[in-house]
Amino acid sequence: NMSEQILQTQNLQAFYGDAQALFGIHFALHRSEVVAIIGANGAGKSTFLKALTGLVKAPADAVRFKGQAIGGAHPGDIVRQGMALVPEGRRLFASLSVEENLLMGATPGRPGPWTLERLYAMFPVLKEKRRNPSGALSGGQQQMVSIGRALMSNPEVLLCDELSLGLAPVVIQEIYAALPAITADGMSLVIVEQDVSLAQRVSQRLYCLQEGRVSLEGDSQAVTREQISQAYFGL
Ligand code: ATP
Repeated sequence: NMSEQILQTQNLQAFYGDAQALFGIHFALHRSEVVAIIGANGAGKSTFLKALTGLVKAPADAVRFKGQAIGGAHPGDIVRQGMALVPEGRRLFASLSVEENLLMGATPGRPGPWTLERLYAMFPVLKEKRRNPSGALSGGQQQMVSIGRALMSNPEVLLCDELSLGLAPVVIQEIYAALPAITADGMSLVIVEQDVSLAQRVSQRLYCLQEGRVSLEGDSQAVTREQISQAYFGL
């Protein structure tokens, strides 16, 4: 049911010590929807994903997932409820093998379609390299491991922070080509992406953040370049 909201934030504020990073974000994600978050460096995109996943504290009622108030919950509890993050910078255990990193994402109580076999079918290079230390892989291959580790928890909502960071265009294409396979079973996605046209292409709706506030929200196909540059830079 496309109209069912699986995730919402209501007046979400977030702080680092005394410094406020998010100033009242209202956001909604529907089941099976892909939503992009765009915005300049420091706009608060990563902080928003961290507040959704318990890595940055939030008031309980400010984040609702499947009808439950989860703001400020323990990150592990949020994964067990079905929301997983592909963090900025991949964050793998470099000395552990590809397969060990993937298995680290497996979450008791969350069976589902995503298994090692299915991941290896989607990213065959990971099967070839499954016994290699993940630190020996290319940046794109490490990103595949990071995505795979999150998928191993069989999330209902997958949050991706700057998948394309530091990768060559051809590698970015290869990573984004996997999105249809990832969403095939109805998973919902939130994608933080610096490349605006890529973000527009892969999403149904987008939010632009500017200095911790939503400066634009709309249909990804309908928003204009002018609206986006105004929302991005506050011109
Ligand atoms: P980027 O694309 O650079 O990751 P972003 O849109 O994800 O940018 P955030 O990383 O969420 O932005 O940063 C939002 C604001 O919070 C910025 O002003 C940043 O300096 C601040 N900030 C982020 N992380 C911390 C931290 N650990 N401690 C203090 N301030 C932080």
